[in-house]
Amino acid sequence: MAIERTLSILKPDAVKNNITGKINSYIESSGLKIIAQKMMLLTKKQAELFYEIHKDRSFFGELVEFMTSGPVIVQVLVGKNAVSKYRQIMGATDPKQAEKGTIRGDFADDISENRVHGSDSLENARKEIDFFFAEHELV
Ligand code: GDP
Repeated sequence: MAIERTLSILKPDAVKNNITGKINSYIESSGLKIIAQKMMLLTKKQAELFYEIHKDRSFFGELVEFMTSGPVIVQVLVGKNAVSKYRQIMGATDPKQAEKGTIRGDFADDISENRVHGSDSLENARKEIDFFFAEHELV
């Protein structure tokens, strides 16, 4: 099993609803470690760039507006198979399809406000971590 890093975002709805501690407890209980964490307010430009892959989707405008609607917490998680493990504990993109016991299954109701982001591949994890963090910030 490979030790990997992945990028996590606790989205504005998680911060607004005061559940970032609860979400971090799901992360920590899974064995993943948080090696970097910061709260920030994304600019429109940052959100557009981060979600560039979805720029032609009908929900892109709504997604950018949501991601800039309040502070987020960006994190780097490390552990065995961190990319797929975090995707597992996040649950399905659409909370209605997410299993109980997952973050989205337990805390979210709607696909447009699904509490968390997690990188979907090792390659994207590297790019996404670089997008938010300098190497020296990963402790
Ligand atoms: P993820 O990797 O599980 O976050 O899912 P995707 O990469 O497919 O989508 C990125 C994000 O876009 C999701 O987490 C949702 O916040 C948002 N999203 C996806 N599909 C929809 C949709 O149909 N409507 C809205 N409003 N947002 C969506």
